[in-house]
Amino acid sequence: MIHVDLHAHTFFSNCGIHSHVEMLTRARDLGMTALALTDHGPELGGRSSGIVYDRLHDPVEGVRYLKGMECNIVPHKKTIDLPVELLKYLDVVVVGVHPNLEKGLGCETYTRMLLEVIENHPCIDIIAHPNDPNFPLDFERVAVAAKRRGIALELNNSKTMLKRAPDSLTRSLVETCINVGCRMVVCSDAHALNELGRDDAVRPILEELSFPEELEITANADRALAFIESRREAKRG
Ligand SMILES: [Zn+2]
Ligand SMILES: [Zn+2]
Repeated sequence: MIHVDLHAHTFFSNCGIHSHVEMLTRARDLGMTALALTDHGPELGGRSSGIVYDRLHDPVEGVRYLKGMECNIVPHKKTIDLPVELLKYLDVVVVGVHPNLEKGLGCETYTRMLLEVIENHPCIDIIAHPNDPNFPLDFERVAVAAKRRGIALELNNSKTMLKRAPDSLTRSLVETCINVGCRMVVCSDAHALNELGRDDAVRPILEELSFPEELEITANADRALAFIESRREAKRG
């Protein structure tokens, strides 16, 4: 289990099922230290607003609520769909290549789009599911750029658990991070209570490839929270 889960959804995402309090209560009951609720940005119909971020503070005693958003690339603007007025609230900014983009544009195009936003946005903390086969990426170029900016690449438990990413691609992603020395976060990307905090689908791949423990930000709660703290300056600055 992950003790600080940095990527999960509530019903403020169209695809999420539960409320903030339900997700945090489950996290607390599992013995987790913190949970980032990272609902989708507006390009995917996410409904997170300043009211939620401004007024909801650690609503469940015993577990820390990290405020996040899973943002999307807005290609014609070379930016992400993070409403600038929300940035001051956020602990975690996740960016993923998602179906708001046209499918079938090819690895070079998606890689270039992602590298552009990595270079333009110092607030990005995590690149979500780079192993999504619908949006192929050049792992090496993404890992090199991410490492330079202190960004983590995600190993997404749901994509593997739901068989939405082939293990061969996931292995290739992990091997690239080992070779480049790019840090990773293991996240559940939970959309339902039973998915929260889980790493059981991807943990065997990390073990099989002898992934260095020091490259895993989510290996323990202290390290994960220190990562969030270290990224705070970029967002407030
Ligand atoms: Zn995503
Ligand atoms: Zn997600």
